Amino acid sequence: MLTIPKEIIDAMIAHARWDFPLEACGILGGTDGLVSDHYPMANIDQSNEHFMMAPKEQFAVVKELRAKEKVMLAIYHSHPETPARPSEEDIRLALTPDVAHVIISLAGAAPDIKAYRIEAGVVTQEPITIS
Ligand SMILES: [Zn+2]
Repeated sequence: MLTIPKEIIDAMIAHARWDFPLEACGILGGTDGLVSDHYPMANIDQSNEHFMMAPKEQFAVVKELRAKEKVMLAIYHSHPETPARPSEEDIRLALTPDVAHVIISLAGAAPDIKAYRIEAGVVTQEPITIS
């Protein structure tokens, strides 16, 4: 279970809309499933179908979270034109252990946000609570 404050949900949606029509991506940090830190990241692929974070930038965020005694809870990205479901590629590239994968879809009339666990190719939806 992932609990995300409303302000962070709004900030992720704003980031997804800002990067539209490209996929936006970022990191959510916190403790015990409670998100407290939001890091919008650059999509170095500059693509509307996939995303890649610069490993160096991702590592810097993990280090900063660690200094705050927090962890990376989720990696998020947007789907500008498709539903909030992991793509084949999302499943194949979900290699970071112990994180939720949050997808923000801008395909419908209103943004749709869903979270998943992806372990060894197996996708399980994870509930999100907005606080
Ligand atoms: Zn995706």
